[in-house]
This record gives sequence, C-alpha cells and structure tokens, in this order.
Amino acid sequence: MSEPKKTPAPAAAGGRASTKKELPEHFKAYKHVWVFVEQERGQVHPVSWELMGAGRILADKLGVELAAVVVGAEGETVRNAVAESFCYGADVAYVCADPALADYRNEAYTAAMTNLVNTYKPEILLLGATTLGRDLAGAVATTLLTGLTADSTELDVDADGSLAATRPTFGGSLLCTIYTLNYRPQMATVRPRVMPMPDRVEKPLGKVIELPLGLAEADIVTKVLNFIPDRESSKSNLAYADVVVAGGMGLGSPENFQLVRQLAQAIGAEYGCSRPLVQKGWVTSDRQIGQTGKTIRPRLYIAAGISGAIQHRVGVEGADLIVAINTDKNAPIFDFAHVGIVTDAIRFLPALTEAFRKRLSAHSRDKLAS
Ligand SMILES: Cc1cc2nc3c(=O)[nH]c(=O)nc-3n(C[C@H](O)[C@H](O)[C@H](O)COP(=O)(O)OP(=O)(O)OC[C@H]3O[C@@H](n4cnc5c(N)ncnc54)[C@H](O)[C@@H]3O)c2cc1C
Repeated sequence: MSEPKKTPAPAAAGGRASTKKELPEHFKAYKHVWVFVEQERGQVHPVSWELMGAGRILADKLGVELAAVVVGAEGETVRNAVAESFCYGADVAYVCADPALADYRNEAYTAAMTNLVNTYKPEILLLGATTLGRDLAGAVATTLLTGLTADSTELDVDADGSLAATRPTFGGSLLCTIYTLNYRPQMATVRPRVMPMPDRVEKPLGKVIELPLGLAEADIVTKVLNFIPDRESSKSNLAYADVVVAGGMGLGSPENFQLVRQLAQAIGAEYGCSRPLVQKGWVTSDRQIGQTGKTIRPRLYIAAGISGAIQHRVGVEGADLIVAINTDKNAPIFDFAHVGIVTDAIRFLPALTEAFRKRLSAHSRDKLAS
C-alpha cells in the first residue's frame, strides 16, 4: 500500500497563484481566528479545546487574536465555558446568550453565529466536526456565502495569510489542501482527536464581548419538546480512551473478535475494529476506527489482524505507542507500528490477556500489601 500522496507545501501550491483574485475590499477588515466552543447539555465538547490549540498556532502565525465563541442560554454553563476558554488560550470571548439558545437548534444557532461574524468579522472560523458542529458549520457557511472545508486533518496559514485546510480525498488515497481565497471567513471543521489537546493553564477571565441574539422565540420554527438521551451514545468512549485494542479481518470470525474484547476488558481498555468488521455486522459502527470511523489518540494502541490500510492508519497515527500483531511481516501496519509482532493473533491474544491478568493481579496484590 503506498503512502497517501501529499499535496505540495501550501506556499508552493501549484496553480493557486493563477486562480487567486484580489480579496474584495469589504473582506479586508476580517481579522482574527475564532473557535466555536461547542456545548451540549452543559458540557463543553473536548474538540473545542483541541481546536483552541490549533487556533492558537494559526493566530500566532498571523499575528492576530484567538477568540472563543460561546453560544447558549444565559447562566452558569455559558459562564463556565467562557472562563475555561481563557484557560485554553483564548485572548477574547464573543458571547451570544439567550434563553432561546438553551438547546441546540440550527436556526437559532445559525442566527447567533452569523450575527457575530457579520458584526466582528473573523478571518478564520473553526468548528468541531461533531454532529452538532457539522450541522451548524454547513448552515453558517451557506448563510454567509463562504467556503467550508469539512473534516480537515491539517490546518496551516499560507505565505499570503490564507488558511490552508488539508483533508483526505478520493477515498483517502490523496490529501488535498483547500483554500477559500475570495470570501470570508475561511471556515473549517476538524474531527475530535485529530488535533492534540493543549495544556490547560489557569488564567483569569479576559475580555468578553456580548451580542444579543436579535431573534424572538416566536420566530424560531423548531421547538424542543423533550430530550431523550441516546442510550447507545455513552457506550463507547473510543476517541478519548487511553488504551485501545482493535481487531481486523485477520481474526477470521465474529467469535474470534471476543479475544479482542477479553484483552480490552483485562487491561481496562476500549475496543475497536477496522471497517470490514462493521460492514459484516460483527461489530457495531460506533467501534470503527479510521477515516470514516473514529480518530483515536490513545497512549497505547494494540491492533490485531489489521493490515494497516491508509483509511485505518489516518485514524490511529496520533497514538503514542502502536503495537501490531499480524501474520504477514510485509503488512503495511508494520510501516508505522512502533512494536511489530509477526504471529497468529488468534493464538497470541489469549496468551497476552492471560499474561496481563496475572501481572495486573500480582500488581494489585502488591499494592494492597504495601
Ligand atoms: C472510502 C473508504 C473509507 C474507508 N474507511 C475505513 C475506516 O474508517 N477504517 C478502516 O479500518 N478501514 C476503512 N476502509 C477500508 C480499508 O481500505 C481496508 O479495506 C480495511 O481497513 C481493511 O481491514 P482489515 O485490515 O481488517 O482487513 P484486511 O485488509 O483483510 O487485513 C487483514 C490482515 O490480517 C492479517 N492476518 C490474517 N490472519 C491473521 C492472523 N491469524 N493473525 C494476525 N494477522 C492475521 C493479514 O495479514 C492482513 O494484514 C475504507 C475504505 C474506503 C474505500
């Protein structure tokens, strides 16, 4: 399997100079990098802080401010989100707080975001590629008539200050860098765990700028009557797990996939899989890792019977330590694994689980004795 073909470095992007037009005069006032701080049911989604880290780098390169955008009902949740934004690097927070923003509704949130953008004019606007973020980003971009690069995997600024947003294309076999040259703001979404989590540094509240929603409840056609939590959604914490064990087609059958679950359970890990196992109905889709599944960044990733196709690789490259178990010493996964074990996973996994169980119970006995 060949490496994904990377586009040239943004500064040298072929043919781009000929396509660039002069930025219209009214867009020249657009300055600063904004990150939408996503909250749902009182919780800030961690992708917002990951984007804050990426936004900080862009803002420093451009020599502009990094701003957090907090939208929600007035009260403690919004206040906490604003305060946390400064701890994750924001220089300023733009806030739109209104009872109509208590629950996410596309119409109200789009109005809040577009009012803020039209009033304060950011040059870059980043959102998490979550269910909420994807819904909102598309609506905001189409309302503002600007470009949006969805599911970006790299963000940079070009020599002329344009946002260079890179994402996989053609089924993940190529990476392309997309520019929004003639419109503002330049918008991008990024999936959770694609960007590293920045350190949280205790900081006092900075500058907070508030803007009213300017939309009455009566003008919003969608009403939230009730909230029914998705009982399945809390099942897997794959994206944020410290240790992940995953299995692929090399395991041969759904029964053998139990070996992955058993190892994960023994070491307190989450379990995942490659895409064909989901397609075959062996494992549920919330466990799929890779380009069309979850991106993970664990401290330890154990992959058993997974070939390491590029679409899988892009979802696991951020792991600190990758251990691959595969019968084929030429499997592509050995090109990026830190530890490679050339063996039959079906025989190796039970032995590894047993060894961990013994080691961990001895360790807990020692801890109890001390
Ligand atoms: C648009 C698109 C999106 C995709 N998105 C994803 C995605 O998000 N995630 C994803 O994973 N894939 C994705 N894929 C599919 C991807 O291209 C590969 O087909 C897939 O990752 C292969 O899964 P696998 O490694 O489990 O199976 P295989 O490629 O069949 O590899 C099985 C491996 O197991 C090894 N093996 C065999 N027997 C044993 C044994 N007993 N013990 C140990 N090793 C053994 C083999 O040597 C082989 O390397 C996508 C494809 C496309 C086109």
